[in-house]
Amino acid sequence: MSKLECDFCGSPDSNENPIISGDNACICKACVNAAYEIMTGAKSDDDEEEYSSEEITKELELRTPAQLKEILDDYVVGQNRAKKVLSVAVYNHYKRIFRKDELEDDDTEINKSNVLLIGPTGSGKTLLAQTIAKYLDVPLAIADATSLTEAGYVGDDVENVVTRLLQAANGDVKKAETGIIFIDEVDKVARMSENRSITRDVSGEGVQQALLKIVEGSLVNVPPKGGRKHPGQDAIQVDTTNILFICGGAFDGLEDIIKKKKGGNVLGFNQEKKSKTDDAIISDVEAHDLVKYGLIPELIGRLHMIATLNEISEDDMVHILTEPKNALVKQYIKLFNLDGVKLEFEKDALKEVAKLAIERKTGARGLRSILEDIMLDIMYDLPSYKDKTVTITKEVVTLKKEPKIA
Ligand code: ADP
Repeated sequence: MSKLECDFCGSPDSNENPIISGDNACICKACVNAAYEIMTGAKSDDDEEEYSSEEITKELELRTPAQLKEILDDYVVGQNRAKKVLSVAVYNHYKRIFRKDELEDDDTEINKSNVLLIGPTGSGKTLLAQTIAKYLDVPLAIADATSLTEAGYVGDDVENVVTRLLQAANGDVKKAETGIIFIDEVDKVARMSENRSITRDVSGEGVQQALLKIVEGSLVNVPPKGGRKHPGQDAIQVDTTNILFICGGAFDGLEDIIKKKKGGNVLGFNQEKKSKTDDAIISDVEAHDLVKYGLIPELIGRLHMIATLNEISEDDMVHILTEPKNALVKQYIKLFNLDGVKLEFEKDALKEVAKLAIERKTGARGLRSILEDIMLDIMYDLPSYKDKTVTITKEVVTLKKEPKIA
């Protein structure tokens, strides 16, 4: 029998481009795809996958750690050390994936550089992950460790996080496999240890073990429509080997563990160390402090890069209100502009907003609702201020007075 050939383009039968033969004619896969595109105007799935991974490579190779940090600087105030750590981790991570051919020549294996961000609530941990994912154009899934359970328990299976990532990638498996997963509140699934309270949930360790499996890299069967897995349901396989994991947590009480350790080292005589603030103490964290806290050593071993974030100060709060590209104050000014109204904030007013946010103890997260509350009545009357200047003074914030209109 003669060798099969495509009657349209003459290509021979091959594994990459197999031939489908009918009674009197043969057609190759490439021509089927081309015909599909011509008939429907759509790209076939095959083309789409190649296109997306190529695009990712192109996008990611263009960025150096310094460029990544610059992007973070546009959106995240302060937290310089964490930005540097994340930029280097992300840079190494994507270099490891996209230049693996060059790396295969020698025996040195480059480990995945997953990241652990330690910092109080509302200090920018999630924002860092969101910003980096957005600007690399990679899919991001965010999950709260406290809502996760081991497979089989009531709650959200750890593997569902991968489902969410696939959804964020619009079902493109290749894209999902190079995405980012952010797991918040990992400190809340710490296991009990001699330092921790008895009331801690004992299932924490199980969740950490389940997390470890996907962080290490495994094939996860994802139900096509998300939700719980059912026997017999068709599953999509996602390889988590090249997914970057960023874990976050406040780790309340970690400073005591570090202080104790330091105290031990210096026999309690080092006054300078004793006067350090908690932020500064936490920045000295080492892997074994986290084991003491209750994270399993295997998981910490997979979170190579540890960065700490500072509590947001009053000055930083003011900067957050005014400086990032999408700063709240800038957004309000734009909204007012659309109505032909000029909006100004007095410096003291912003300081008062910052003070209120600090009182709430929710970090910079509180700023939005405080400002929304202040601006609501003013927005209500906005159309009547056309061609005027509205100035938000300190008294508008503290005493709910009317703003200055001129
Ligand atoms: P967490 O550290 O608890 O993950 P988030 O990153 O979710 O905190 O912060 C909540 C919100 O507070 C963000 O969406 C952002 O608006 C603001 N925010 C927090 N930290 C910063 C920061 N360092 N720079 C700019 N905005 C910040």
